[in-house]
Amino acid sequence: RGKRAFIAGIADDNGYGWAIAKSLAAAGAEILIGTWVPALNIFESSLRRGKFDESRVLPDGSLMEITKVYPLDAVFDSPEDVPEDVKANKRYAGSSKWTVKEVAESVKEDFGTIDILVHSLANGPEVTKPLLETSRYGYLAAISASSYSFVSLLKHFVPIMNPGGASISLTYIASERIIPGYGGGMSSAKSALESDTRVLAFEAGRKHKIRVNTISAGPLRSRAAKAIGFIDMMIDYSTENAPLQKELSAEEVGNAAAFLASPLASAITGAVVYVDNGLNAMGVGV
Ligand code: NAD
Repeated sequence: RGKRAFIAGIADDNGYGWAIAKSLAAAGAEILIGTWVPALNIFESSLRRGKFDESRVLPDGSLMEITKVYPLDAVFDSPEDVPEDVKANKRYAGSSKWTVKEVAESVKEDFGTIDILVHSLANGPEVTKPLLETSRYGYLAAISASSYSFVSLLKHFVPIMNPGGASISLTYIASERIIPGYGGGMSSAKSALESDTRVLAFEAGRKHKIRVNTISAGPLRSRAAKAIGFIDMMIDYSTENAPLQKELSAEEVGNAAAFLASPLASAITGAVVYVDNGLNAMGVGV
């Protein structure tokens, strides 16, 4: 049987999540997607209208099939956590069962088990503010959407993950080096995500034989990255200074994720794997 993957954090065909889905599909996996509730309608209608058909083409010429799209808001674990104003919001009221716990239950009901869990989402309402000007609210919101969201997803999906399964998240070097402009507590959130990768690798490995890794990806012009405001500069900086002087493609990150999710990586867990043209290894720009 082919593997089944749940990928949280796809709302268009520009981000890392989409590229990971394609690489996993090319390797024979069945694809389930979790899409942020406010982005769901436009994503599903674009899919239906064939807007993504060109970018659904796999190396063998076939089109990636998406078996099911689930609405998801990864900052809420269960219905009790959802405040009234969100419940009443018409974009949210139009969908149901989108808290993490409910999505895991729906996937269990629909498919029984999964093999691969991908977390490709982040959000920091104050990302454009320096850390020194970040509010407590902004900082905690960044951690909630970008770090705890992974803990919660793994916690709720691990019971339906087959032993030998793997989970992957996406991180950024701002967790360990100063990247001015990556603010709002997002650098802190990525540090937490990387630390949690190690602790969760231990816990999920011992208890469930599940591997947990994170990919530290180089800059990509995704929707989320454009919102930060410095993405073109980061891409130029990397092309100028990295050991490999080429623009990073989302597909290169997708392929690394497919490797990490596969039995080829059966002894790799708790790792931060750099997929960044080697930029992380440089000490100075030259
Ligand atoms: P993206 O915009 O394609 O993906 C981010 C997704 O997160 C979006 O689909 C958005 O709808 C979703 N999202 C936001 N809040 C959510 C919530 N509460 N619940 C569910 N979904 C939510 O952008 P991307 O850059 O591909 O981001 C994917 C991952 O890659 C993120 O973790 C990001 O930090 C990481 N990353 C990106 C870069 C880069 O340069 N683009 C570099 C390193 C790491």
